[in-house]
Amino acid sequence: MSKRNGEPSDPLRALPGVDLVLQSPAAVPWLDRLPREHVADLVREAIGELRESLLADPSQAPEDPLRAVAAKVDGLVQSLSESSLRPVINASGVILHTNLGRAPLGQSAVEAVGSIAGGYCNLEYDIEQGRRGRRDGHCGSLLERLLGAPALVVNNNAAAIFLVLHELAREGEVIVSRGELVEIGDGFRIPDILEASQARLREVGSTNRTNLDDYRDALGDRTRALLRIHPSNFKQVGFTGRPTIEQLVALAKSASLPLIEDLGSGCLVDHLAEGIEGEPPVARSIKAGVSLVTFSGDKLLGGPQAGIIAGDAGLVARVRRNPLFRALRVGKLTLAALEATLRSYLAGREDEIPALRLMRTPTAALSARAHKLAKRLAEHGISGCSVVEGKSVLGGGSTPMQSMPSPLVAIEGRPGRSATHVESGLRSYDPPVVARIEKDRVLLDLRTVPEDQEDDLVAAVIQATRPRQTGA
Ligand SMILES: *Cc1c(COP(=O)(O)O)cnc(C)c1O
Repeated sequence: MSKRNGEPSDPLRALPGVDLVLQSPAAVPWLDRLPREHVADLVREAIGELRESLLADPSQAPEDPLRAVAAKVDGLVQSLSESSLRPVINASGVILHTNLGRAPLGQSAVEAVGSIAGGYCNLEYDIEQGRRGRRDGHCGSLLERLLGAPALVVNNNAAAIFLVLHELAREGEVIVSRGELVEIGDGFRIPDILEASQARLREVGSTNRTNLDDYRDALGDRTRALLRIHPSNFKQVGFTGRPTIEQLVALAKSASLPLIEDLGSGCLVDHLAEGIEGEPPVARSIKAGVSLVTFSGDKLLGGPQAGIIAGDAGLVARVRRNPLFRALRVGKLTLAALEATLRSYLAGREDEIPALRLMRTPTAALSARAHKLAKRLAEHGISGCSVVEGKSVLGGGSTPMQSMPSPLVAIEGRPGRSATHVESGLRSYDPPVVARIEKDRVLLDLRTVPEDQEDDLVAAVIQATRPRQTGA
Protein backbone atom coordinates (compact mmCIF):
# COMPACT_ATOMS: atom_id res chain seq x y z
CA MET A 1 0.00 0.00 0.00
CA SER A 2 1.31 3.42 -0.86
CA LYS A 3 2.05 5.69 2.02
CA ARG A 4 2.14 9.42 2.30
CA ASN A 5 3.81 11.11 5.23
CA GLY A 6 3.98 7.73 6.88
CA GLU A 7 0.16 7.44 6.82
CA PRO A 8 -1.56 4.82 4.69
CA SER A 9 -3.59 6.74 2.10
CA ASP A 10 -7.03 5.51 1.05
CA PRO A 11 -6.49 3.95 -2.39
CA LEU A 12 -10.20 4.28 -3.16
CA ARG A 13 -9.99 8.01 -2.74
CA ALA A 14 -7.07 8.11 -5.14
CA LEU A 15 -9.25 6.82 -7.97
CA PRO A 16 -9.86 9.50 -10.61
CA GLY A 17 -13.35 10.78 -11.40
CA VAL A 18 -14.98 10.16 -14.77
CA ASP A 19 -14.53 13.77 -15.89
CA LEU A 20 -10.88 13.81 -15.04
CA VAL A 21 -10.27 10.70 -17.16
CA LEU A 22 -12.32 12.12 -20.03
CA GLN A 23 -10.26 15.32 -19.97
CA SER A 24 -6.94 13.48 -19.89
CA PRO A 25 -4.87 13.12 -23.09
CA ALA A 26 -5.51 9.37 -22.99
CA ALA A 27 -9.15 10.00 -23.88
CA VAL A 28 -8.40 11.69 -27.21
CA PRO A 29 -8.07 8.47 -29.27
CA TRP A 30 -11.13 6.96 -27.57
CA LEU A 31 -13.24 9.97 -28.46
CA ASP A 32 -12.01 9.68 -32.04
CA ARG A 33 -13.40 6.19 -32.23
CA LEU A 34 -16.57 6.27 -30.15
CA PRO A 35 -19.21 8.83 -29.16
CA ARG A 36 -18.67 10.58 -25.85
CA GLU A 37 -21.53 8.89 -24.00
CA HIS A 38 -20.14 5.42 -24.79
CA VAL A 39 -16.65 6.43 -23.76
CA ALA A 40 -18.00 7.87 -20.50
CA ASP A 41 -19.75 4.54 -19.82
CA LEU A 42 -16.54 2.64 -20.43
CA VAL A 43 -14.59 4.96 -18.13
CA ARG A 44 -17.21 4.46 -15.44
CA GLU A 45 -16.96 0.71 -15.95
CA ALA A 46 -13.16 0.77 -15.72
CA ILE A 47 -13.20 2.86 -12.54
CA GLY A 48 -15.81 0.51 -11.09
CA GLU A 49 -13.69 -2.54 -11.87
CA LEU A 50 -10.66 -0.96 -10.30
CA ARG A 51 -12.67 -0.05 -7.22
CA GLU A 52 -13.88 -3.65 -6.90
CA SER A 53 -10.39 -5.06 -7.09
CA LEU A 54 -9.14 -2.51 -4.57
CA LEU A 55 -11.91 -3.44 -2.16
CA ALA A 56 -10.97 -7.09 -2.57
CA ASP A 57 -7.27 -6.46 -2.12
CA PRO A 58 -6.18 -2.95 -1.07
CA SER A 59 -2.50 -3.92 -1.38
CA GLN A 60 -2.96 -3.91 -5.17
CA ALA A 61 -3.29 -0.13 -5.31
CA PRO A 62 -1.81 1.09 -8.59
CA GLU A 63 1.03 3.56 -8.55
CA ASP A 64 -0.77 5.77 -11.03
CA PRO A 65 -4.54 5.25 -10.77
CA LEU A 66 -5.29 7.40 -13.82
CA ARG A 67 -2.98 5.28 -15.93
CA ALA A 68 -4.52 2.10 -14.60
CA VAL A 69 -8.00 3.29 -15.53
CA ALA A 70 -6.78 4.43 -18.95
CA ALA A 71 -5.25 1.02 -19.65
CA LYS A 72 -8.56 -0.67 -18.87
CA VAL A 73 -10.50 1.76 -21.05
CA ASP A 74 -7.99 1.22 -23.88
CA GLY A 75 -8.84 -2.45 -23.86
CA LEU A 76 -12.59 -1.82 -23.72
CA VAL A 77 -12.50 0.74 -26.55
CA GLN A 78 -10.45 -1.60 -28.68
CA SER A 79 -12.78 -4.54 -28.18
CA LEU A 80 -15.76 -2.38 -29.12
CA SER A 81 -14.30 -0.73 -32.17
CA GLU A 82 -12.68 -3.77 -33.76
CA SER A 83 -14.42 -6.72 -35.31
CA SER A 84 -14.74 -9.54 -32.84
CA LEU A 85 -15.05 -12.03 -35.69
CA ARG A 86 -11.55 -12.30 -37.11
CA PRO A 87 -9.93 -14.49 -39.73
CA VAL A 88 -7.50 -17.04 -38.30
CA ILE A 89 -4.89 -19.29 -39.85
CA ASN A 90 -5.97 -22.86 -39.21
CA ALA A 91 -2.76 -24.85 -38.84
CA SER A 92 -4.54 -27.54 -36.82
CA GLY A 93 -5.22 -29.74 -39.84
CA VAL A 94 -8.84 -30.15 -38.73
CA ILE A 95 -10.68 -29.52 -41.98
CA LEU A 96 -14.16 -28.99 -40.56
CA HIS A 97 -13.22 -27.29 -37.30
CA THR A 98 -16.47 -26.29 -35.62
CA ASN A 99 -14.72 -23.70 -33.44
CA LEU A 100 -13.10 -22.18 -36.53
CA GLY A 101 -16.28 -21.90 -38.57
CA ARG A 102 -16.35 -25.36 -40.20
CA ALA A 103 -16.18 -25.37 -44.00
CA PRO A 104 -14.41 -22.47 -45.71
CA LEU A 105 -16.44 -21.32 -48.70
CA GLY A 106 -15.20 -21.64 -52.25
CA GLN A 107 -14.45 -18.69 -54.49
CA SER A 108 -17.73 -18.87 -56.36
CA ALA A 109 -19.69 -19.02 -53.09
CA VAL A 110 -17.78 -16.04 -51.70
CA GLU A 111 -18.46 -14.10 -54.89
CA ALA A 112 -22.13 -15.04 -54.79
CA VAL A 113 -22.42 -13.74 -51.23
CA GLY A 114 -20.53 -10.57 -52.18
CA SER A 115 -22.77 -9.84 -55.13
CA ILE A 116 -25.94 -10.21 -53.07
CA ALA A 117 -24.93 -8.84 -49.68
CA GLY A 118 -24.72 -5.13 -50.44
CA GLY A 119 -27.96 -4.67 -52.34
CA TYR A 120 -31.44 -5.91 -53.06
CA CYS A 121 -32.14 -9.25 -54.67
CA ASN A 122 -35.01 -11.47 -55.75
CA LEU A 123 -35.01 -13.40 -52.46
CA GLU A 124 -38.80 -13.73 -52.54
CA TYR A 125 -39.62 -12.06 -55.81
CA ASP A 126 -40.56 -13.59 -59.12
CA ILE A 127 -38.83 -11.33 -61.61
CA GLU A 128 -40.73 -12.63 -64.65
CA GLN A 129 -44.14 -12.29 -63.11
CA GLY A 130 -43.34 -9.17 -61.16
CA ARG A 131 -44.81 -10.52 -57.97
CA ARG A 132 -44.03 -12.36 -54.79
CA GLY A 133 -41.89 -15.43 -55.32
CA ARG A 134 -40.59 -18.26 -53.19
CA ARG A 135 -37.50 -18.18 -51.06
CA ASP A 136 -37.26 -21.99 -51.29
CA GLY A 137 -36.89 -21.88 -55.03
CA HIS A 138 -33.31 -20.68 -54.96
CA CYS A 139 -31.72 -23.89 -53.75
CA GLY A 140 -34.72 -26.17 -54.05
CA SER A 141 -34.38 -27.19 -57.66
CA LEU A 142 -30.60 -27.68 -57.43
CA LEU A 143 -31.02 -29.86 -54.36
CA GLU A 144 -33.77 -31.85 -56.01
CA ARG A 145 -31.54 -32.50 -58.99
CA LEU A 146 -28.59 -33.52 -56.83
CA LEU A 147 -30.51 -35.60 -54.31
CA GLY A 148 -33.32 -36.94 -56.45
CA ALA A 149 -35.96 -35.63 -54.06
CA PRO A 150 -37.57 -32.35 -52.96
CA ALA A 151 -35.69 -30.49 -50.25
CA LEU A 152 -35.94 -27.60 -47.81
CA VAL A 153 -33.23 -25.46 -46.27
CA VAL A 154 -33.24 -24.31 -42.65
CA ASN A 155 -30.72 -22.73 -40.32
CA ASN A 156 -28.70 -25.83 -39.42
CA ASN A 157 -29.08 -29.56 -39.02
CA ALA A 158 -30.16 -29.26 -35.40
CA ALA A 159 -33.03 -27.06 -36.63
CA ALA A 160 -33.76 -29.53 -39.41
CA ILE A 161 -34.12 -32.52 -37.09
CA PHE A 162 -36.10 -30.43 -34.62
CA LEU A 163 -38.52 -29.24 -37.28
CA VAL A 164 -39.01 -32.69 -38.78
CA LEU A 165 -39.75 -34.24 -35.40
CA HIS A 166 -41.99 -31.37 -34.40
CA GLU A 167 -44.03 -31.86 -37.54
CA LEU A 168 -44.11 -35.64 -37.71
CA ALA A 169 -43.86 -36.86 -34.15
CA ARG A 170 -45.11 -34.10 -31.86
CA GLU A 171 -47.00 -35.57 -28.91
CA GLY A 172 -46.23 -39.03 -30.13
CA GLU A 173 -43.35 -41.46 -29.91
CA VAL A 174 -40.22 -41.81 -31.96
CA ILE A 175 -38.41 -45.10 -31.87
CA VAL A 176 -34.65 -44.74 -31.73
CA SER A 177 -31.79 -47.08 -30.92
CA ARG A 178 -29.97 -46.56 -27.61
CA GLY A 179 -26.73 -46.85 -29.56
CA GLU A 180 -27.55 -43.71 -31.52
CA LEU A 181 -28.49 -41.28 -28.76
CA VAL A 182 -25.34 -39.27 -29.20
CA GLU A 183 -24.02 -35.93 -28.09
CA ILE A 184 -22.52 -34.17 -31.06
CA GLY A 185 -20.61 -31.58 -29.06
CA ASP A 186 -21.21 -28.28 -27.35
CA GLY A 187 -24.22 -29.68 -25.55
CA PHE A 188 -26.10 -30.77 -28.64
CA ARG A 189 -27.70 -34.00 -27.51
CA ILE A 190 -30.16 -35.80 -29.69
CA PRO A 191 -32.47 -36.67 -26.72
CA ASP A 192 -32.73 -32.96 -25.82
CA ILE A 193 -33.77 -32.07 -29.35
CA LEU A 194 -36.38 -34.78 -29.29
CA GLU A 195 -37.74 -33.43 -26.05
CA ALA A 196 -37.82 -29.86 -27.34
CA SER A 197 -39.78 -31.01 -30.38
CA GLN A 198 -42.36 -32.53 -28.03
CA ALA A 199 -41.76 -35.98 -29.43
CA ARG A 200 -41.35 -38.71 -26.83
CA LEU A 201 -38.34 -40.92 -27.11
CA ARG A 202 -38.87 -44.65 -27.25
CA GLU A 203 -35.41 -46.10 -26.75
CA VAL A 204 -34.84 -49.61 -28.01
CA GLY A 205 -32.00 -52.11 -27.98
CA SER A 206 -28.84 -51.79 -25.97
CA THR A 207 -25.94 -49.41 -26.25
CA ASN A 208 -23.98 -51.71 -28.49
CA ARG A 209 -26.63 -53.81 -30.22
CA THR A 210 -30.09 -53.13 -31.57
CA ASN A 211 -31.87 -55.49 -33.92
CA LEU A 212 -34.92 -55.15 -36.10
CA ASP A 213 -37.16 -56.95 -33.60
CA ASP A 214 -36.33 -54.34 -30.99
CA TYR A 215 -37.85 -51.72 -33.28
CA ARG A 216 -40.78 -53.95 -34.21
CA ASP A 217 -41.61 -54.75 -30.60
CA ALA A 218 -41.73 -51.06 -29.75
CA LEU A 219 -44.30 -50.18 -32.41
CA GLY A 220 -47.60 -49.05 -30.95
CA ASP A 221 -50.54 -46.70 -31.23
CA ARG A 222 -48.50 -43.72 -30.24
CA THR A 223 -45.59 -44.38 -32.60
CA ARG A 224 -45.23 -41.57 -35.13
CA ALA A 225 -41.87 -42.33 -36.69
CA LEU A 226 -38.68 -44.37 -36.66
CA LEU A 227 -35.48 -42.39 -36.31
CA ARG A 228 -32.03 -43.39 -37.44
CA ILE A 229 -29.10 -41.21 -36.37
CA HIS A 230 -25.60 -41.17 -37.78
CA PRO A 231 -23.33 -41.70 -34.76
CA SER A 232 -21.05 -39.00 -36.20
CA ASN A 233 -18.32 -38.36 -33.70
CA PHE A 234 -18.06 -41.70 -32.01
CA LYS A 235 -17.51 -45.23 -33.09
CA GLN A 236 -18.39 -48.52 -31.54
CA VAL A 237 -16.18 -51.52 -31.99
CA GLY A 238 -16.51 -55.14 -30.93
CA PHE A 239 -19.85 -56.85 -30.33
CA THR A 240 -22.08 -54.36 -32.10
CA GLY A 241 -24.88 -54.38 -34.59
CA ARG A 242 -27.84 -52.52 -35.95
CA PRO A 243 -30.29 -53.16 -38.77
CA THR A 244 -29.44 -52.06 -42.27
CA ILE A 245 -31.22 -49.02 -43.63
CA GLU A 246 -33.10 -51.29 -46.05
CA GLN A 247 -34.44 -53.39 -43.17
CA LEU A 248 -35.61 -50.26 -41.36
CA VAL A 249 -37.24 -48.94 -44.53
CA ALA A 250 -39.15 -52.21 -44.93
CA LEU A 251 -40.29 -52.18 -41.31
CA ALA A 252 -41.40 -48.54 -41.50
CA LYS A 253 -43.31 -49.24 -44.71
CA SER A 254 -45.08 -52.25 -43.26
CA ALA A 255 -46.13 -50.12 -40.29
CA SER A 256 -47.05 -47.15 -42.52
CA LEU A 257 -44.72 -44.90 -40.55
CA PRO A 258 -42.09 -42.46 -41.76
CA LEU A 259 -38.43 -43.35 -41.32
CA ILE A 260 -36.31 -40.29 -40.55
CA GLU A 261 -32.56 -40.36 -40.88
CA ASP A 262 -30.27 -37.73 -39.37
CA LEU A 263 -27.21 -38.15 -41.53
CA GLY A 264 -25.15 -35.55 -39.72
CA SER A 265 -22.54 -34.69 -42.27
CA GLY A 266 -24.45 -35.59 -45.34
CA CYS A 267 -22.21 -35.73 -48.37
CA LEU A 268 -23.34 -35.34 -51.94
CA VAL A 269 -20.59 -37.55 -53.35
CA ASP A 270 -18.93 -40.71 -52.16
CA HIS A 271 -15.72 -40.05 -50.25
CA LEU A 272 -14.51 -43.63 -50.15
CA ALA A 273 -11.68 -42.70 -52.49
CA GLU A 274 -10.29 -40.38 -49.82
CA GLY A 275 -10.47 -43.19 -47.29
CA ILE A 276 -13.58 -41.74 -45.65
CA GLU A 277 -15.75 -44.65 -44.61
CA GLY A 278 -19.21 -44.63 -43.09
CA GLU A 279 -20.38 -41.52 -44.93
CA PRO A 280 -22.74 -42.74 -47.62
CA PRO A 281 -24.03 -40.05 -49.96
CA VAL A 282 -27.41 -38.59 -49.07
CA ALA A 283 -28.92 -39.79 -52.33
CA ARG A 284 -28.27 -43.39 -51.31
CA SER A 285 -30.50 -43.08 -48.25
CA ILE A 286 -33.23 -41.41 -50.25
CA LYS A 287 -33.02 -44.09 -52.92
CA ALA A 288 -33.20 -46.78 -50.26
CA GLY A 289 -36.56 -45.35 -49.26
CA VAL A 290 -35.84 -43.25 -46.17
CA SER A 291 -38.82 -40.88 -45.85
CA LEU A 292 -36.88 -37.81 -44.76
CA VAL A 293 -33.16 -37.21 -44.31
CA THR A 294 -31.56 -34.25 -42.57
CA PHE A 295 -27.94 -33.09 -42.82
CA SER A 296 -25.65 -30.09 -42.41
CA GLY A 297 -24.61 -27.62 -45.08
CA ASP A 298 -21.22 -26.84 -43.57
CA LYS A 299 -19.80 -30.28 -42.88
CA LEU A 300 -18.75 -32.60 -45.70
CA LEU A 301 -20.94 -30.72 -48.14
CA GLY A 302 -18.53 -27.81 -47.77
CA GLY A 303 -21.04 -24.95 -47.88
CA PRO A 304 -22.46 -22.40 -45.44
CA GLN A 305 -24.12 -23.21 -42.12
CA ALA A 306 -27.48 -24.69 -43.05
CA GLY A 307 -29.64 -27.71 -42.44
CA ILE A 308 -31.19 -29.59 -45.32
CA ILE A 309 -34.33 -31.68 -45.15
CA ALA A 310 -35.02 -33.89 -48.14
CA GLY A 311 -37.15 -36.83 -49.14
CA ASP A 312 -40.80 -37.69 -49.70
CA ALA A 313 -42.59 -34.81 -51.44
CA GLY A 314 -45.68 -34.97 -49.25
CA LEU A 315 -43.67 -34.97 -46.04
CA VAL A 316 -41.40 -32.16 -47.21
CA ALA A 317 -44.52 -30.12 -48.00
CA ARG A 318 -45.89 -30.85 -44.53
CA VAL A 319 -42.68 -29.74 -42.85
CA ARG A 320 -42.70 -26.65 -45.07
CA ARG A 321 -46.13 -25.70 -43.72
CA ASN A 322 -45.13 -26.05 -40.07
CA PRO A 323 -45.19 -22.51 -38.59
CA LEU A 324 -41.78 -23.10 -37.06
CA PHE A 325 -40.27 -23.35 -40.54
CA ARG A 326 -40.66 -19.58 -40.67
CA ALA A 327 -38.68 -19.26 -37.45
CA LEU A 328 -35.85 -21.46 -38.70
CA ARG A 329 -35.55 -20.25 -42.28
CA VAL A 330 -32.27 -19.06 -43.77
CA GLY A 331 -31.34 -15.63 -45.11
CA LYS A 332 -30.20 -14.50 -48.53
CA LEU A 333 -26.49 -14.75 -47.74
CA THR A 334 -26.81 -18.41 -46.79
CA LEU A 335 -28.87 -19.15 -49.88
CA ALA A 336 -26.36 -17.38 -52.12
CA ALA A 337 -23.47 -19.39 -50.69
CA LEU A 338 -25.33 -22.67 -50.70
CA GLU A 339 -26.57 -22.23 -54.24
CA ALA A 340 -23.06 -21.54 -55.54
CA THR A 341 -21.71 -24.56 -53.66
CA LEU A 342 -24.43 -26.82 -55.04
CA ARG A 343 -23.72 -25.51 -58.54
CA SER A 344 -20.12 -26.65 -58.18
CA TYR A 345 -21.38 -30.16 -57.43
CA LEU A 346 -23.84 -30.11 -60.30
CA ALA A 347 -21.11 -29.06 -62.71
CA GLY A 348 -18.83 -31.79 -61.39
CA ARG A 349 -16.34 -29.13 -60.26
CA GLU A 350 -15.91 -30.42 -56.74
CA ASP A 351 -12.41 -29.03 -56.52
CA GLU A 352 -13.98 -25.58 -56.24
CA ILE A 353 -15.13 -26.63 -52.78
CA PRO A 354 -12.30 -26.05 -50.30
CA ALA A 355 -13.27 -28.81 -47.84
CA LEU A 356 -13.14 -31.40 -50.61
CA ARG A 357 -10.00 -29.95 -52.12
CA LEU A 358 -8.27 -30.07 -48.73
CA MET A 359 -9.36 -33.66 -48.16
CA ARG A 360 -7.95 -34.62 -51.53
CA THR A 361 -4.61 -32.81 -51.31
CA PRO A 362 -1.98 -35.42 -52.15
CA THR A 363 0.42 -36.28 -49.34
CA ALA A 364 3.38 -35.63 -51.64
CA ALA A 365 2.27 -32.03 -52.20
CA LEU A 366 1.88 -31.48 -48.47
CA SER A 367 5.25 -33.06 -47.83
CA ALA A 368 6.94 -30.71 -50.30
CA ARG A 369 5.29 -27.68 -48.67
CA ALA A 370 6.17 -28.87 -45.17
CA HIS A 371 9.85 -29.33 -46.07
CA LYS A 372 9.95 -25.93 -47.70
CA LEU A 373 8.39 -24.32 -44.66
CA ALA A 374 10.75 -26.09 -42.24
CA LYS A 375 13.69 -24.89 -44.36
CA ARG A 376 12.42 -21.30 -44.38
CA LEU A 377 12.03 -21.36 -40.61
CA ALA A 378 15.55 -22.76 -40.20
CA GLU A 379 16.88 -19.98 -42.45
CA HIS A 380 15.32 -17.52 -40.05
CA GLY A 381 17.40 -19.05 -37.30
CA ILE A 382 14.59 -20.99 -35.68
CA SER A 383 16.05 -24.17 -34.23
CA GLY A 384 14.27 -27.42 -33.63
CA CYS A 385 12.11 -27.43 -36.76
CA SER A 386 11.54 -30.69 -38.59
CA VAL A 387 8.98 -32.52 -40.67
CA VAL A 388 7.23 -35.41 -38.95
CA GLU A 389 4.56 -37.89 -39.97
CA GLY A 390 1.11 -36.98 -38.75
CA LYS A 391 -2.57 -36.94 -39.52
CA SER A 392 -5.19 -34.42 -40.49
CA VAL A 393 -8.67 -35.10 -39.23
CA LEU A 394 -11.96 -34.30 -40.82
CA GLY A 395 -13.59 -32.96 -37.65
CA GLY A 396 -16.83 -31.08 -37.47
CA GLY A 397 -18.64 -33.80 -35.61
CA SER A 398 -18.45 -35.76 -38.80
CA THR A 399 -17.06 -39.22 -39.27
CA PRO A 400 -15.28 -40.60 -36.23
CA MET A 401 -11.58 -41.31 -36.37
CA GLN A 402 -11.41 -40.44 -40.02
CA SER A 403 -8.03 -39.07 -40.81
CA MET A 404 -5.65 -38.55 -43.68
CA PRO A 405 -1.87 -38.92 -43.45
CA SER A 406 -0.29 -35.49 -43.39
CA PRO A 407 3.36 -34.48 -42.98
CA LEU A 408 3.57 -31.86 -40.22
CA VAL A 409 6.10 -29.18 -39.37
CA ALA A 410 7.13 -29.72 -35.76
CA ILE A 411 8.70 -26.97 -33.66
CA GLU A 412 10.33 -28.42 -30.59
CA GLY A 413 10.23 -26.64 -27.27
CA ARG A 414 13.54 -25.18 -26.13
CA PRO A 415 14.61 -23.72 -22.81
CA GLY A 416 12.94 -20.32 -22.60
CA ARG A 417 10.76 -21.23 -25.55
CA SER A 418 8.40 -23.98 -24.46
CA ALA A 419 5.82 -25.40 -26.82
CA THR A 420 3.04 -23.72 -24.83
CA HIS A 421 4.87 -20.40 -25.11
CA VAL A 422 5.21 -20.82 -28.88
CA GLU A 423 1.60 -21.94 -29.27
CA SER A 424 0.24 -18.93 -27.36
CA GLY A 425 2.62 -16.68 -29.29
CA LEU A 426 1.13 -18.00 -32.52
CA ARG A 427 -2.32 -17.10 -31.30
CA SER A 428 -1.28 -13.57 -30.47
CA TYR A 429 -0.13 -12.93 -34.03
CA ASP A 430 -2.42 -11.05 -36.40
CA PRO A 431 -3.99 -13.07 -37.97
CA PRO A 432 -3.89 -15.55 -35.08
CA VAL A 433 -2.53 -19.00 -35.88
CA VAL A 434 -4.25 -22.03 -34.34
CA ALA A 435 -1.91 -24.98 -33.94
CA ARG A 436 -1.66 -28.21 -31.98
CA ILE A 437 0.75 -29.15 -29.20
CA GLU A 438 1.95 -32.68 -28.76
CA LYS A 439 4.72 -33.76 -26.41
CA ASP A 440 6.34 -30.33 -26.06
CA ARG A 441 6.21 -29.78 -29.80
CA VAL A 442 4.05 -27.38 -31.73
CA LEU A 443 2.67 -29.09 -34.82
CA LEU A 444 1.73 -27.17 -37.95
CA ASP A 445 -0.45 -28.95 -40.49
CA LEU A 446 -0.33 -27.21 -43.87
CA ARG A 447 -3.32 -29.10 -45.22
CA THR A 448 -5.64 -26.45 -43.82
CA VAL A 449 -3.34 -23.49 -44.54
CA PRO A 450 -3.84 -21.93 -47.98
CA GLU A 451 -0.52 -21.27 -49.73
CA ASP A 452 -1.10 -17.53 -49.70
CA GLN A 453 -1.11 -17.61 -45.89
CA GLU A 454 2.34 -19.19 -45.64
CA ASP A 455 4.23 -15.88 -45.41
CA ASP A 456 2.01 -14.88 -42.50
CA LEU A 457 2.59 -18.27 -40.92
CA VAL A 458 6.36 -17.83 -41.17
CA ALA A 459 6.15 -14.34 -39.65
CA ALA A 460 3.94 -15.68 -36.86
CA VAL A 461 6.43 -18.44 -36.03
CA ILE A 462 9.31 -15.95 -36.03
CA GLN A 463 7.43 -13.77 -33.56
CA ALA A 464 6.30 -16.68 -31.41
CA THR A 465 9.75 -18.28 -31.11
CA ARG A 466 11.51 -15.07 -30.18
CA PRO A 467 13.18 -15.62 -26.80
CA ARG A 468 11.03 -14.22 -24.06
CA GLN A 469 12.04 -10.75 -22.86
CA THR A 470 13.69 -11.08 -19.48
CA GLY A 471 13.96 -8.35 -16.88
CA ALA A 472 11.98 -5.14 -17.08
C1 LIG B 1 -23.37 -32.29 -36.64
C2 LIG B 1 -24.57 -33.10 -36.41
C3 LIG B 1 -25.77 -32.50 -36.06
C4 LIG B 1 -25.88 -31.01 -35.89
O1 LIG B 1 -25.72 -30.34 -37.10
P1 LIG B 1 -25.58 -28.75 -37.13
O2 LIG B 1 -25.59 -28.41 -38.58
O3 LIG B 1 -24.30 -28.45 -36.44
O4 LIG B 1 -26.74 -28.20 -36.41
C5 LIG B 1 -26.87 -33.29 -35.87
N1 LIG B 1 -26.81 -34.62 -36.00
C6 LIG B 1 -25.67 -35.25 -36.33
C7 LIG B 1 -25.67 -36.72 -36.44
C8 LIG B 1 -24.50 -34.51 -36.55
O5 LIG B 1 -23.36 -35.11 -36.88
